[in-house]
Amino acid sequence: MLTSGPRGTKDILPDSSGYWQYVEKTIREVCQNFAYQEIRTPVFEHTELFLRGIGDTTDIVEKEMYTFSDRAKRSITLRPENTAAVVRSYLENKLYSGPQPTKLYYIGPMFRYDRPQAGRYRQFHQFGVEAIGAQGPSIDAEVISLAVALLKKLGLNDLNLLINSVGCPQCRPVYRTKLQDFFRDNVAHLCSDCQSRYDRNPMRILDCKNETCAEYSQGAPHMLDCLCEECSDHFSGLQKLLTAAGINFAINLRLVRGLDYYTKTAFEIQYSPLGAQSAVCGGGRYDGLIAECGGQPTPGIGFAIGIERVLLALEKQELLPQINSTIDVFVAPLGVETQAAAFQLLSKLRHAGIAADMDFMNRSLKAQMKYANKYPAKFVALIGEDELAQQKIMLKNMETGSQELMDMTALVHMILEGMEK
Ligand code: AMP
Repeated sequence: MLTSGPRGTKDILPDSSGYWQYVEKTIREVCQNFAYQEIRTPVFEHTELFLRGIGDTTDIVEKEMYTFSDRAKRSITLRPENTAAVVRSYLENKLYSGPQPTKLYYIGPMFRYDRPQAGRYRQFHQFGVEAIGAQGPSIDAEVISLAVALLKKLGLNDLNLLINSVGCPQCRPVYRTKLQDFFRDNVAHLCSDCQSRYDRNPMRILDCKNETCAEYSQGAPHMLDCLCEECSDHFSGLQKLLTAAGINFAINLRLVRGLDYYTKTAFEIQYSPLGAQSAVCGGGRYDGLIAECGGQPTPGIGFAIGIERVLLALEKQELLPQINSTIDVFVAPLGVETQAAAFQLLSKLRHAGIAADMDFMNRSLKAQMKYANKYPAKFVALIGEDELAQQKIMLKNMETGSQELMDMTALVHMILEGMEK
């Protein structure tokens, strides 16, 4: 028990944290390029926020939340996604009073009681974007192009961008009735989840993974045929913008959400080499969500990308960068009495901004040289009894093998000059 973490969690160890830093750095660069600013919200919120903000007929809310009572008997939930929390923060901190739209991004852990498998965890990380306050399709195109730009910048080229429109509270009820008419005679053949979806959320039957449900969905009416004029114009506007930006897409009628506050654009980005867990990004418009959470009716759109999935894809395609663990100087004290001088040099080097380390294990000279080569270190600064007596250091260039006796200050200057070149 004490030596294994909870099921579905994973440690990010030093040999891979560099890859996370690389992906996070790339995310920040792309967000800066698109003028999105970071928001950091707590990892737990009042459970009520997610019941409202995700919808109590969704799998997440029905089956996957980590919910508990705190010591004051309040119901608390570890965030399973971050849109609802960003909307809560937008309202609480009156971000609507600043220049609009409000363009935000976040990176952080999310928690879902999912069935763990490759690419699916119980604690996983998402990078997401929320653009709140703009109505027209151009912000949809911007949000989608940000996701595509990030994945391309990381080197992932075989991307499938799928888009759809889920309509709005004006046109969706018509579609809902058509769908219920379509499934009416076969409800008993659908899986138990879809049988309950039939009444509560029939659009969700269309994206059920169950083969029988997929068969019975063949020939179902299309939302696109039921869109009102506004939704239809929005969807064709989005397609024009994506085409103008040179972004390839396909329309996928199975991309659905079905809750009232999800409106118009729904999209997903798949990276097919990932196989079963090929969805790397999911997003859409949520024009009813802010009012649902207690604000003035305000449009919004966003997406979330699973960082573990992106890393899996990068690993699969051999696109992970070389992680550099090089240091400039390894300080090698020879004997206990030289340690104070060694530590003094180490402090001076670090203070000057030079990456340095020293031996803390009283190793032999040979073992210290071997250790220094592991980083690898560019220089080793040896301090033996002779050097100590002369107040000097023997600096060995690990690339050329040359050695030079010098004092501490000269050594720091020499390394700094070398770094400037
Ligand atoms: P969603 O919030 O369900 O739309 O998911 C957005 C993205 O988060 C997905 O496309 C995945 O890349 C990722 N994701 C969702 N659930 C998990 C999970 N349990 N483990 C790892 N990644 C996940």
